[in-house]
Amino acid sequence: MSILPAPEARFDHEVPVLIIGAGACGLTAALAAREGGAEALLLERDAAPTGSTSLSTGMIPAAGTKLQAQHGIDDTPEIFAGDILAKAKQQTDAAMALAVAGQSGPTVDWLMESHDLVLTLVEGFLYPGHRRLRMHATPHRSGRELEAALLAAAGRRGIDILSGARAEDLYAEADGTVRAVRFVRPDGTRETVGCQALVLACNGFGGNKEMLRRYIPEIAEADYAGHVGNTGDAVRWGAALGAALADMASYQGHGAVAHPYGNTMTWGLISGGGFQVNAAGARFANEASGYSEQAVEVVRQPGRVAWTIFDAAREAPVRGFTDYAEVDALGGIRRADTIDGLARALGLPEVALAATLAEVEALRAAGGADRFGRVFAGTPPLAPPYCGVKVTGALYHTQGGLRVDALARVLREDGRVLPNLFAGGGAARGLSGPSRWGYLSGNGLLTATVLGRAAGRSAARLVAGGG
Ligand SMILES: Cc1cc2nc3c(=O)[nH]c(=O)nc-3n(C[C@H](O)[C@H](O)[C@H](O)COP(=O)(O)OP(=O)(O)OC[C@H]3O[C@@H](n4cnc5c(N)ncnc54)[C@H](O)[C@@H]3O)c2cc1C
Repeated sequence: MSILPAPEARFDHEVPVLIIGAGACGLTAALAAREGGAEALLLERDAAPTGSTSLSTGMIPAAGTKLQAQHGIDDTPEIFAGDILAKAKQQTDAAMALAVAGQSGPTVDWLMESHDLVLTLVEGFLYPGHRRLRMHATPHRSGRELEAALLAAAGRRGIDILSGARAEDLYAEADGTVRAVRFVRPDGTRETVGCQALVLACNGFGGNKEMLRRYIPEIAEADYAGHVGNTGDAVRWGAALGAALADMASYQGHGAVAHPYGNTMTWGLISGGGFQVNAAGARFANEASGYSEQAVEVVRQPGRVAWTIFDAAREAPVRGFTDYAEVDALGGIRRADTIDGLARALGLPEVALAATLAEVEALRAAGGADRFGRVFAGTPPLAPPYCGVKVTGALYHTQGGLRVDALARVLREDGRVLPNLFAGGGAARGLSGPSRWGYLSGNGLLTATVLGRAAGRSAARLVAGGG
């Protein structure tokens, strides 16, 4: 994997806008490039595109959408950016947060109105750190559905996807202008495709242990629940071209991946007032901080597992979520009329689990913060039937990457733009600050869709001669 000097010769194929990766970012970029009048081609390493997008819950956060207005929700880019910045402890780029939040509503409206995506507002609970209901998702709250809808939209616009094509090397001029990409087919044959603009939409380095050990050792040995083909190519090409990297230790973890099923157990179970215990039946962290930082806390527990404890009332709003329904159908969700019965069903110590529940309910009634800093007040007490599910902590995707501006142009260390390189989604630096604790739910698909659209527009403008 390298940067090669651009040859004089012609390439095997030519396209104005070339996009590497056919997840949410790449597909959104292609739709925007096509709308901007440019022909776009996607290179995708898999035989059928899935990406981390398909593995996700498919929740896209957006402020000021028409759907929110229909539900009477008074959200604005300023409120949303405030939430992003608060979660990242003000340690991310405030101007970028506001710019991306500002484009989030128009992007979701555009996906729905111009590209016929069927999205609805997720109601019933707020994800940690969000002050408004702003998650927009497909009917079954499934990333598979989202990816399929984006692929269908691309198909309707006649956008070509070259699948089974793993981009390997870039051909570039000395000033960083990318002239072409060389890709390899599953049978080992190599071809080149020339371009006027290149969009890196091939996500981060969650699938690359070596890079994880270097940049984020704390999560390197945990399960990786994202797409294994995301091996950090964008970061490595970008760095070799002189791009700035930022927040390389930042990531989205998740502290409730159903074990051994691998499905995401929505954090709505926790935000609604549920909690987590370890094998001793004891709580071990402030679950309400967020699911990302909880990943490492769960991985530190005996056996690297924990149990999410909730009840039927907390379960009601999430029963229709595909991931939840799948685990339930496989018997992963245990229910009992008493807390002792639930402890037996989960294989946890009865006395300890009952004591933990009693402590939680006392805290909830008293209203103060517990020893971890969690406040249960404002949520109703758990009531029978009680429910529980065994979980582990996992890495979902990396949030550090190529520094970009609001037009998704890749920047050098000194702030100058690379001539024709754009990036979004997991390939670009996210909005989650420098570490695990800064990830606000939805930051992944937020920058995949908003920066994907920006990248496609910018690339189309560039090839049209608009700079
Ligand atoms: C279990 C799980 C749940 C999640 N839930 C949510 C959620 O609800 N909301 C949210 O906002 N985020 C969520 N995320 C994060 C979200 O999935 C990602 O942030 C988002 O999908 C990133 O989109 P992307 O287009 O950048 O990358 P991807 O969707 O991963 O697409 C990248 C594509 O690039 C391809 N590729 C990689 N390298 C090459 C190469 N060299 N040549 C050709 N192709 C290449 C890959 O095969 C892949 O198809 C979740 C993640 C996981 C793992």
